[in-house]
Amino acid sequence: MGEKWFIEKIEHDGVAFSLAVTEKLHEEQSAYQRIEVYQTREWGRLLVLDGCVMLTERDEFFYHEMMSHPALFAHRDPRRVAIIGGGDCGILREVLRHEQVEHAIQVEIDERVTRVSERFFPELCNANNDARAELRFTDGVEWIGAIPPESLDLLIVDSTDPVGPAADLFTCNFLRAARQALTPGGIVVQQSESPLLHRDSVIAPLQRAASEAGFDGVHTLTFPMPSYPSGWWSATLIVNGGDPRNFRESDAAAKAFPTRYYNAEIHRAALATPELLKPL
Ligand code: SAM
Repeated sequence: MGEKWFIEKIEHDGVAFSLAVTEKLHEEQSAYQRIEVYQTREWGRLLVLDGCVMLTERDEFFYHEMMSHPALFAHRDPRRVAIIGGGDCGILREVLRHEQVEHAIQVEIDERVTRVSERFFPELCNANNDARAELRFTDGVEWIGAIPPESLDLLIVDSTDPVGPAADLFTCNFLRAARQALTPGGIVVQQSESPLLHRDSVIAPLQRAASEAGFDGVHTLTFPMPSYPSGWWSATLIVNGGDPRNFRESDAAAKAFPTRYYNAEIHRAALATPELLKPL
């Protein structure tokens, strides 16, 4: 196939994102979504779910590092971690770089996303065989309500956009169940879309839902994410006691594992609140 362009159109916002592609490597319709993998000319391989960019090999590190390390260093001693969604396994890889993590369970509704990622994005899945990792394929909304109370230190919600099976992951009921599942001092970090495009439709309602669910600290951090709509993304930290802006800064500065974006200075900077996100 000669050079073509993959285009993600965000109709509602009148914007599109496009990548030059040289080959479609895979496509299938799973029980939950359309899964496509492309070879791009300049951005490595590209994973697309229902027409939306999930990751490219060139810039996935921004998202996977910023959805993991701020929350892990904000927790005083994260040992039991759960990831809801995250089927490409990039966040599982980042979580298991933290040696004190004893167990990391990934609860992904669609096993096909993980199997396709293992085949086409092995560098994202290199922690899947870690003895501390557990892969579960079920609905995270049901799973969180069925686990024992105070059984998690950290919950990372790496879901698709808040539509379809992901919609309930952004609700007060889900966050109430998450609060029950967390230990005192536990943290939820949730991908909360674009501050520019989704402030009023996602970020503000999520912050309200967290407060209504009884959490006493909520803070949205922002970071660049070139291949997502607007190129500017967010993660909302939700805490069960304490201030989400506090973190183990010396541990972050002394981290023994490699990253390409995250470091202690970036962590501190990402917590700064842009005017358009003040109080929502
Ligand atoms: N970083 C991407 C983003 O911000 O859009 C998300 C990556 S990850 C591939 C998203 C995953 O969430 C998908 O694999 C999807 O199947 C999964 N997912 C959606 N709703 C879910 C649910 N209720 N329980 C578990 N996984 C869910």
